[in-house]
Amino acid sequence: MTVPGPGSPDAGPDETTFDVVVVGAGLAGNAAALTAAEAGATVCLLEKGEAYGGTSVKAGGGLVFAGTDLQDEAGVRDDAEGLRTAIMDAGRGRSDPDTVEAYLDHQLDTYRWMSERGVAFDYFPDLVPRRLNRLHGTAPGHATEVLHRCSLAHPGVRYRVRTRGKRLVRGADGVVGGIVVESDGTEAVLTARRGVVLASGGFVRSDDLVATFAPEWLLTTRMGGTANTGDGLRMAWALGAAVADMAYVEASFGASIPNFPDVADTPGVEPTLLYPNSQGAVVVNREARRFADETLPYKELSAICVQQPDGIAFMVFDAAVMDRSLPTPSPADFSTALADGRLVEADTLEGLAEKVGLSPDALVSTIRRYNGHVDAGNDPDFGRPVDGSPASGGGRIDTGPFYAYPCRCGLTTTYCGLRVDRSLRVVDVFGEPIEGLFAAGEVVGGFHGAGYYSGTGLGKAAVFGRGAGLAAAERRPRTTS
Ligand SMILES: Cc1cc2nc3c(=O)[nH]c(=O)nc-3n(C[C@H](O)[C@H](O)[C@H](O)COP(=O)(O)OP(=O)(O)OC[C@H]3O[C@@H](n4cnc5c(N)ncnc54)[C@H](O)[C@@H]3O)c2cc1C
Repeated sequence: MTVPGPGSPDAGPDETTFDVVVVGAGLAGNAAALTAAEAGATVCLLEKGEAYGGTSVKAGGGLVFAGTDLQDEAGVRDDAEGLRTAIMDAGRGRSDPDTVEAYLDHQLDTYRWMSERGVAFDYFPDLVPRRLNRLHGTAPGHATEVLHRCSLAHPGVRYRVRTRGKRLVRGADGVVGGIVVESDGTEAVLTARRGVVLASGGFVRSDDLVATFAPEWLLTTRMGGTANTGDGLRMAWALGAAVADMAYVEASFGASIPNFPDVADTPGVEPTLLYPNSQGAVVVNREARRFADETLPYKELSAICVQQPDGIAFMVFDAAVMDRSLPTPSPADFSTALADGRLVEADTLEGLAEKVGLSPDALVSTIRRYNGHVDAGNDPDFGRPVDGSPASGGGRIDTGPFYAYPCRCGLTTTYCGLRVDRSLRVVDVFGEPIEGLFAAGEVVGGFHGAGYYSGTGLGKAAVFGRGAGLAAAERRPRTTS
């Protein structure tokens, strides 16, 4: 990952008045800053961390769009109507319709806009079974890097790294007109004539917010941006902002434990997500017992995995599954996982069990029983669709070498957050827009409802970033007579 540096038009300390201030330089913030600048606004893009990127540069890279040229070329007929239904279904009907409409308003335009600026999309193989493929893949970090480079190159954008947005400044008229920032221990006030866009991500790194809203996930591996401590949420709360979906934080199944049997997070080693279960692996707990239909969505598997002893699982598979490895950025890149030590390999199932501390007898018995289900074409234990074909997601596991992937639940994103209207203005607890305050990306709640539609995390960052950047740039301050 190249971090644009020396060429960046770092704002001088005396430059304090802008049309738009964007808080956070992940995908949402960069999309917002660039869009606002292209619409003619002067923009200050703030980043609290040491470098741009946040969670966005750690992500797999699939974004959800509907009705694209790539889908057309693949013969997939899709449109905004279908996407609306899919998002609402995934959210079990709890998504806020206006927030979903905001996505539909901007999604296709955002896809084209990103492509025109150099983001290379690929038609990603969708590993979530039984759904229409809307995943448009990008190499990890690529989309954010491209938009960041474009932002830095735009004469209207000033970028301030290691600068934290601390408090919003609201005038006597109730309009947000600026922000207090802190850099190297010094505070300053930036004026935002048209608005502030909060794009500061979620709160995966805040133990107090996780303990408040999602205590069941306190003991997960934290995978999002290291500076994502819910600052934007707190700043807007202080102005009476409404929140949404706080009860629906979910973790993802399949986070690596790189130094297993040492289960502690290793500083400097980024856990990753891997899904051999989507290609035929069986999932067992520390007692070497299966505990679910392995083809369930990874959020549902996560909720079951966290109930297992120590919250740990092992995906167990064989050479036939290894042969289905797909290249990075797919989360089915088993070859790379083997090369970098995330997989354990052995010639026999017994040897594999010994290496990861499972009972060899129990593992052999579990796999023998599972193979029997495959032969019978029916899994009476958990209802996994098994007819022996790779397409069904479950063939026999009987061809060495054998592999185990020790894993647990990872908290990648917090999904919930600030309530917005269709124009991405933050609304207060009475449903009134807080004038001059916009939000984009993970800090926005109400979109996912009670369940996540995979690929809308990055999607929501790019699409809402573009929408909020445009809305802020176009806002005209009230005139007083
Ligand atoms: C391992 C992993 C894989 C994923 N894979 C996918 C995927 O394939 N598809 C998908 O759709 N989603 C995926 N996601 C989720 C997705 O990455 C996030 O939903 C998305 O990146 C959020 O983007 P954002 O711009 O809102 O936040 P971020 O990218 O986190 O950016 C927020 C930025 O704000 C900065 N910041 C925070 N507070 C302040 C402050 N006070 N002042 C200034 N700056 C501040 C942070 O440092 C950060 O740089 C994945 C997540 C993880 C962890």
